[in-house]
Amino acid sequence: METQELLRILACPRCLGSLTALEEHGNLAGLACAACQLVYPVKDHIPVMLPEEAIERTAWDARSPADAEKA
Ligand SMILES: [Zn+2]
Repeated sequence: METQELLRILACPRCLGSLTALEEHGNLAGLACAACQLVYPVKDHIPVMLPEEAIERTAWDARSPADAEKA
């Protein structure tokens, strides 16, 4: 599914706000909610839209993309 299409369909499960795509190496890696300062990870091209799976934006920005790809 196209990223723009995903962004149109998906909303933050906490605040129902709009999301911003975060890309790593040209791949969609996460969907960020600016209001909640949370990032919903995209695993195997599937967005994980669960508040309990969300990563704080500061932790997301601090983590190594290389580590994420191996996880
Ligand atoms: Zn939110």
